[in-house]
Amino acid sequence: MEVNTFVEPLIFELSSPGRQGVRLPESDVPCYELPSDLLRERLPLPEVSQVDVTRHFTRLSQLNFAIDTTLYPLGSCTMKYNPRVNEDAARLPGFALLHPLTDADAAQGALCLMYELQTYLAEIAGFKGVSLQPAAGAQGEFTGILMMRAYHADRGDHKRTKMLIPDSAHGTNPASSAMAGLHVVEIPSDARGNVDLAALRAQLDDTVCGLMITNPNTLGMFEEHIEEVCALVHAAGGLVYGDGANMNALLGIAKPGEIGFDVMHYNLHKTFSTPHGGGGPGSGPVAANEKLVDFLPGPIVRAVPDGEDDWRYEWHMPPKSIGRMRAFHGNFGMLVRAFTYIRVHGEAGLRAVSQHAVLNANYVQARLRGVYPFPHGERFCMHETCAQGKIADAPSVVALDISKRLMDYGFHPPTNYFPLPKIVPEALLIEPTETESKQTLDRFCDAMLQIAEEARHNPQLLKDAPHSAPMKRLDEVKAAKELVLCCVIADDE
Ligand SMILES: *Cc1c(COP(=O)(O)O)cnc(C)c1O
Repeated sequence: MEVNTFVEPLIFELSSPGRQGVRLPESDVPCYELPSDLLRERLPLPEVSQVDVTRHFTRLSQLNFAIDTTLYPLGSCTMKYNPRVNEDAARLPGFALLHPLTDADAAQGALCLMYELQTYLAEIAGFKGVSLQPAAGAQGEFTGILMMRAYHADRGDHKRTKMLIPDSAHGTNPASSAMAGLHVVEIPSDARGNVDLAALRAQLDDTVCGLMITNPNTLGMFEEHIEEVCALVHAAGGLVYGDGANMNALLGIAKPGEIGFDVMHYNLHKTFSTPHGGGGPGSGPVAANEKLVDFLPGPIVRAVPDGEDDWRYEWHMPPKSIGRMRAFHGNFGMLVRAFTYIRVHGEAGLRAVSQHAVLNANYVQARLRGVYPFPHGERFCMHETCAQGKIADAPSVVALDISKRLMDYGFHPPTNYFPLPKIVPEALLIEPTETESKQTLDRFCDAMLQIAEEARHNPQLLKDAPHSAPMKRLDEVKAAKELVLCCVIADDE
């Protein structure tokens, strides 16, 4: 690994004995000796001023790619711009400072917001009820699967231990099913990128708990036989789980609950623009139809009439609830942000979000077609498009090289090698989102086309990329095999 030369000195080089960033007042409490087992012989921390620290962390923050600095077309992750009005709302003191154990009577505003968000989410995807508890998409999946299991158990149907999952599914789907103790059976995709119906039929029997499916699927394709898929699973007594992480393509256009899904999770941090990535909080509310609504985790908020035309909001445990999935009431700050986003956009605005997300992805697909292979490129895509990082006359170049070179052009790479190589070799899953202008999309496509030229004439340029990043190409195999999770400061340093 080579490290590019920094212009600015590193924080340890700036250290000067006795320099400090804050001046503490004289202590007005007695001093105590700390127990010796808490003390270290040496703790070499840099001694620096406040401005040194500020510059250090500001510079570090700029070494990374971020949606606030560049296009971030990370397929399946929906890295859209997060409007700042969401942040204003989440920071209102009445929301931000509210203690989670406050009585419902004293937190009516927060409960009202949660109730209305439950209602909007149910309406948007066509379901009967919503629980806002799950803290991320994957926890939403786990929740939904536990509800499916509880539904079968409630009917005395204990044989149903098999979960069918298309091979194009997000890795969290089989993981969540396995965590819930189910046996995962993979269903292949057909040549058009849909679920292979014959393979699905072959698995349908009285041991099927359900099918877990993402639509649009992770190839960016709308499942052409989705109603038939749902009907087949239902006819076998199974339930259909919808992975709603890709709702960005469907807002105001199609409702999974009407298509035939029984339960679904949303990713508020993808579709509804709450900031994510870098370990930020998520939010994965779960929605259910009549069959499953009584099994939702609780408590959830319900509205009861209070006088002539007023409402009171209270906590309510659904009658057959699987219980709590999380302490307190979900990631409340994310709920405020998603609520704000929905209210700011309104019905027509949300539909426009999805229309532009789909248009932008198709624009990118159309501009790159012919230079990059698209395994299902004869079809229109939805909100994301799956290209292959394979360039004619540049056999040594792989998807990773193209992605690393894109960083030199100032773009975050698309999702690499997902969908998995067995479905799409050298996958580059590109999701531009609706928040990018045509100018930005053109700059991105120009860069992709330029990189294809470079691959033909100077493949080494791609192999050695990135050239402009502070760290050059890392040895990812070594990083995975010889994982070092903490930095040990040698005593003699
Ligand atoms: C992001 C994503 C998930 C998981 O969501 P997390 O919030 O990261 O747990 C599941 N399925 C699909 C299709 C996704 O894109």
